[in-house]
Amino acid sequence: VKKIGVLTSGGDAPGMNAAIRAVVRTGLSHDLEIYGVYDGYMGLHEDRIEKMKRYSVSDVVNRGGTFLGSARFPEFKEEKVREEAVENMKKHGIDALVVVGGDGSYMGAKKLTEMGFPCIGIPGTIDNDIAGTDYTIGFDTALNTAIEAIDRIRDTSSSHNRISIVEIMGRYCGDLALQAAIAGGAEYVIIPEVGFNRADLLKSLNEGKLKGKKHAIIVITEHITNVNELAAGIEMATERETRATVLGHIQRGGAPTARDRVLASWMGGYAVELLLEGKGGRCIGIQNNQLVHHDIIECIETMRRPFAQDLYTLQQRLF
Ligand code: ATP
Repeated sequence: VKKIGVLTSGGDAPGMNAAIRAVVRTGLSHDLEIYGVYDGYMGLHEDRIEKMKRYSVSDVVNRGGTFLGSARFPEFKEEKVREEAVENMKKHGIDALVVVGGDGSYMGAKKLTEMGFPCIGIPGTIDNDIAGTDYTIGFDTALNTAIEAIDRIRDTSSSHNRISIVEIMGRYCGDLALQAAIAGGAEYVIIPEVGFNRADLLKSLNEGKLKGKKHAIIVITEHITNVNELAAGIEMATERETRATVLGHIQRGGAPTARDRVLASWMGGYAVELLLEGKGGRCIGIQNNQLVHHDIIECIETMRRPFAQDLYTLQQRLF
């Protein structure tokens, strides 16, 4: 491997810049040429590819988002489009690609690998929904942002004896909501892995009231239900003022935490080392505080994320 491309794809996540920087600087330290691809697979197809220098990644380690840009580009599912993208890389002499993104981006990397173009996947998404890794880049920052918001909502919820529902991102993974609920001291958590039953929730709210709780915070993952309708239903059933807050994209932005910067740097450097060892078609993860790599095809087709049942049980006990 002499020339490596790097791109960020799918939803942006804080720490992606630190990952790009680590790929560039580790690559240069091994006398490789590194090429940045703008706007994910779209830029790959449009040949928006630029040779990176040391200073191309100056002053980005602390910045949220991704300076290379990201894009949704469904056309990449078409083989012809991917073949044209591979042609572009060959034109620049690029012989491997590092993709920082979520599971959709991994699908693109998997398909390029199957076409004989070696890719390395780095998990970059706030959702923590990728198999083969305990944490994804951006999760810790989003979690801290969510907790800060919950703390603020707690102040007003407590002052007004209100029930507050906070909708958190995570797509179909409850990690962000569950950990935010524990760290933010929320009374209830509703996550996709468990689902919820309205009658049980009302019963718990009532039990909380009997225990003397004046307010309540319910943390819920997005896509489960319409939180404004849920709030109206709870208010009607309990006769207690209930408000819903959707945190939305606030959770995706902001400077990455130290933990995300270190994780991203570690994974970015490792991606280059793996390619130098001749290992392509891998995706990187962190498991039990060690960097690991898995077959990217296996990761998508057969590996599943375990559900943190112990944390869920703990949350229930802290109520
Ligand atoms: P997030 O988890 O933050 O949403 P993601 O990587 O899952 O990130 P997607 O929009 O699902 O985000 O995927 C990003 C891009 O990856 C798509 O826009 C597309 O270019 C490419 N991609 C997704 N699925 C496939 C596929 N089946 N084949 C080829 N390319 C794909």
